Parts: sequence; structure tokens; C-alpha cells
Amino acid sequence: MREFGYQRAHDVPGALAVLGADPEARALGGGTNLVDLMKAGVERPALLVDLRDLPLDRIEATDDGGLRIGATVSNSDLAAHPEVRRRYPALTQAVLAGASGQLRNMATVGGNLLQRTRCGYFTDLSKPCNKRTPGSGCPAVEGEHRNHAILGASAHCVAVHPSDMGVALAAFDAVVSYETADGPGEVPLAEFYLPVGDTPHQETALPPGALITAVTLPPAPVAAHSRYRKVRERASYAFAIGSAAAALDVRDGVVHDVRLAFGAVASRPWRAREAERVLTGGPATAEAFATAADAELAAAQALPDNGYKVTLMRNLVVALLTELTEEAGR
Ligand SMILES: Cc1cc2nc3c(=O)[nH]c(=O)nc-3n(C[C@H](O)[C@H](O)[C@H](O)COP(=O)(O)OP(=O)(O)OC[C@H]3O[C@@H](n4cnc5c(N)ncnc54)[C@H](O)[C@@H]3O)c2cc1C
Ligand code: SF4
Repeated sequence: MREFGYQRAHDVPGALAVLGADPEARALGGGTNLVDLMKAGVERPALLVDLRDLPLDRIEATDDGGLRIGATVSNSDLAAHPEVRRRYPALTQAVLAGASGQLRNMATVGGNLLQRTRCGYFTDLSKPCNKRTPGSGCPAVEGEHRNHAILGASAHCVAVHPSDMGVALAAFDAVVSYETADGPGEVPLAEFYLPVGDTPHQETALPPGALITAVTLPPAPVAAHSRYRKVRERASYAFAIGSAAAALDVRDGVVHDVRLAFGAVASRPWRAREAERVLTGGPATAEAFATAADAELAAAQALPDNGYKVTLMRNLVVALLTELTEEAGR
């Protein structure tokens, strides 16, 4: 592991100044992903700028009835917040489905969104990987890809984004706020992760040197009736092989409003807009849920060993929306 310096930043301009002065400096949230990647030699920063003292650790109501979540709020505090639990329960469930209690105490909202893929080739320096070393190739396409993408991938990279939290944020139209030396900016989560194309190493729309400062959830009454379901290879402490966040408003048996997003199927949390379109205004039945899932998954391009994810996601959508419908009828 390369020797590195460590500094604590106390305000955002100070953090930006230190990060801007050294292209080899990196922001440190909880360190639960970055430090692992440093140990593996994938990341080799000269300086870590610790963000934990920044005044970005609050969750506040916005004037329009949404929530603004500071970038250094821990995953544990996010999951436990009463307004998150009441207004966006799928977000609490998604966060609690991730990692372990100790990790969630350390991990931050900003770091969770920027965590890197768990593709085994990415962290194995003896193997080529387009994401780690652009132009070197993607051994996963013909190699180990059971847990890799079925939607939105390219021949240059088939890795999935590992975040659970991001799936619920995608379903609820979250907006990412950031700060740069040139001033603030924001980008909807739907545009935050860049298409894979032939540049899988360019992952987000965040300007170079920018700090994520907050994630804002707009008001969404439907989100109060939401759930997150995660399928994994063991019952806890494992990344998803498929997951979904759903919110449903059913009136007289008809879908009035619906939100649906998938995890572990693409390089980003995947908003299932085609399924939402098919569902809206139609009957809230298992047949209609399956038809909507099929419409979304028609774009799937499975590899030889991950076709099971198409069936898995279809079943997940039907189960989740059926549960929400039954809940609404009680
Ligand atoms: C054993 C294990 C199991 C896990 N299981 C799951 C799981 O099931 N589901 C899941 O979703 N996650 C899981 N995780 C991942 C975990 O959620 C992430 O490691 C964590 O969310 C990252 O947050 P962090 O604050 O520690 O990020 P860090 O490791 O500190 O940083 C990650 C990246 O974000 C950058 N960064 C951090 N904050 C900011 C900011 N404000 N602005 C700009 N850049 C920033 C850093 O420079 C770095 O590049 C697991 C991790 C481990 C180790
Ligand atoms: S899937 Fe992406 S991260 Fe994995 S080896 Fe291929 S290029 Fe690298």
C-alpha cells in the first residue's frame, strides 16, 4: 500500500482547496470502500481529506415537503431517521439491507453513491479491466459474470453498481447536490451515472474535484407506501444479485401512481420507467405486474451465465407489487 497523508477538513471551501491543490488527493467519507481499494492497490491516493467534520451531517425538511440529506450522514442515521422511515420506508429498508451494522455506522451517503463495483476483475491487479485500466479489455464478458449486468451494459464493461441505497433514491427522483471551486451544482440521480459505452472508467457526471454535499428527495406521497426487496446468495452481509424498490398507489383496483427501480442489474440503479408506464392506469393484478416487468426486461441482454436475473427480476416485481397491493387493501 502506498504511503499517504491524512487531513481533516473543517469546512467545504477548505476541503475543496486541499483537494484542488493536489490531483492525487481523495475525499474520505467513512473509508469503507476507499480504504479497501487502497489495500488492493486499485486506489493509490497521496492524501486523504477526511470529510467527517464538515457540516453536512443533517437531514432536514425542504420547503416543498421533501427531505435534504447531507452527504456525510451515516447510513445508520439515514435508515433510522423518523421522517425517512415514515415518508420513504423503502429507503430505510434498502439501507438496512446493505453491509453490516458496523459498516453502516461508518459509511456515508456520498460515499455510498460513489462506491465502486464489486466485479472481481476490477480489484484483481493481475487481470485486465477497462474500468481500472482503460483499453485493457473486459475479461468478465467471457469469464465470471454470474452477478453482472443484464441492462444498459456494453461489450466494454458489464459490471453492476452495488448500492442498495441508490436504488430507493432512484425510485424517488433524488437530486445530487455538489460543490466545486467554481460554485455549486446539482444533477438528478437519473443523470448522475454515465452510460457505460466505451468509457466505463468515467462513472459519474460529477465534475472533477467536486464534493457531494447533499441528496434531496422531492415530496412524493406515493413513497409512503413503498418497499425494498433484495435477493442475495446468503441471508445477510452480501451484495444483491437482484433487488427492487417499489412504491404503489392503488385506487379501486387501478394503479394511480407507481415508482419502480432495480438494483444489481446495471451499471447504475435502474429506474424501470417502461414498467411504470405500462402499469399506470391499469389493473393492480399479478398478470399486469408480470406484463409490466416483461416490458421493462425486454431490453435485457443476458450473458451465458446471468440469464437467471431476467426471471428473478420478473418474479421480484410481481411479488413486491402484489405485497404493496395487499397492504393497500388492508
Ligand atoms: C463487507 C462489505 C459489505 C458491503 N455490503 C454492501 C451492501 O450489501 N450494499 C451496499 O449498498 N453497500 C455495501 N457495502 C458498501 C458500503 O455501503 C460502501 O462501502 C459505503 O457506502 C461507502 O461509503 P463510505 O462513506 O465509507 O465511502 P468511502 O469509502 O469513504 O468513499 C467511497 C468513494 O466516494 C468518495 N467520496 C466519499 N464521500 C464523498 C463526497 N461527499 N464527495 C465526493 N466524493 C466522496 C471517496 O473519495 C471514494 O472515492 C459493503 C461494504 C463492505 C466492506
Ligand atoms: S465488467 Fe467492468 S469492472 Fe469487470 S472486468 Fe469488465 S471492465 Fe472491469
